[in-house]
Amino acid sequence: MRKLFSLLFVACVVAPSSAATFSITHFGTPPDAQAAIQYAADIWGGILVSDVPIKVSVSWSALGGAALGVTFPNGRKDFPNAPVSATWYASALANSIEHAELNPGEDDINVYLNSGTNWYLGTDGNTPAGQYDLVSIALHELGHGLGFVGLAKKVVSEGSFGLLQASDFAPLITTFPWPEQDTLPGIFDRFLTSTANGPLTFLNNPSNTLGTAITSNQVYFNGANALAANAGQNARVYAPSVFALGSSCVHLNEATFPAGNPNELMTPFSSAGQSNHWPGPICLGILRDIGWTLAPDVGVAEHHLPSVHLFPDPATSEITIITNNPGGKEPITVADAFGRVVLRTSNSRPIDVSGLDAGSYIARGQGGWVARFLKQ
Ligand SMILES: [Zn+2]
Repeated sequence: MRKLFSLLFVACVVAPSSAATFSITHFGTPPDAQAAIQYAADIWGGILVSDVPIKVSVSWSALGGAALGVTFPNGRKDFPNAPVSATWYASALANSIEHAELNPGEDDINVYLNSGTNWYLGTDGNTPAGQYDLVSIALHELGHGLGFVGLAKKVVSEGSFGLLQASDFAPLITTFPWPEQDTLPGIFDRFLTSTANGPLTFLNNPSNTLGTAITSNQVYFNGANALAANAGQNARVYAPSVFALGSSCVHLNEATFPAGNPNELMTPFSSAGQSNHWPGPICLGILRDIGWTLAPDVGVAEHHLPSVHLFPDPATSEITIITNNPGGKEPITVADAFGRVVLRTSNSRPIDVSGLDAGSYIARGQGGWVARFLKQ
């Protein structure tokens, strides 16, 4: 038996293990700036796992107003192993889930950085007063390109998901064909919930109700991993009373996570004279919730995970989970693709899943291990 189980572990714990690599094409970026951007990409490369190189195009150009950077992710939906159907995934994320290149010949991420900004191009984080740390901003922008992004929009009072047009962002253009979004939300949007309305993607789309919700100042990301990284609280998302295209509902809330907070990287505003070279636990939780695999040594809960073997997968009536935890049995929760806990068990094995709807689920143990399975 011992031998059999160790064979099973070898056979079943094949997580993809290659660190994500970035292939960056620059347009007008000075060499020192290229080095800082590569430094930021390497930080993400050490965090995320992907078999498929992430193709980024960086344009160093004059942007209007106070913008430091603007990022457009390419997108894919309904690819063979998509965890949630009728939902957009950043193509870098879709490729990592699929273990295959779904968009050959197309960039995954377009980043525009403002050539008029007083940038600090060093990589040591010692940003002088009055300058903006390029590593921090590139890390933020790449975060959007990797999937920390949604498809919310508001026109007068009507809110929508998946109605963004290329013309909304003129004169900026993308190097890849603009995906026709067909009023479908992004996977990030699937986790947004408002105090008054519950899950935002359950509301009519488009609708005035959705428009009110996305400007309610009470929008939260309720994925299980983000929640765990935020002391059990849903993470507050930036949703000001006046909708800001490209800013509302695609950032953590500025006032909740101000400068100095470990989760400030993905808030909408940056200050001169500061630096932040780590995404922070909530952002990492969000990336896991939307489908990214993190490198094994990243994040608090990721340390020293026990091996876990879940079978059968796909499941029909019950699942069995075997871990190498010394005690053997432990409390287990099962969450659906939206991160909502649908099943709890103290120590029963196997676990009856016959009552669950068809779909993808995540089982989680007290020891911090996570195992995905499909219910048929
Ligand atoms: Zn941003």
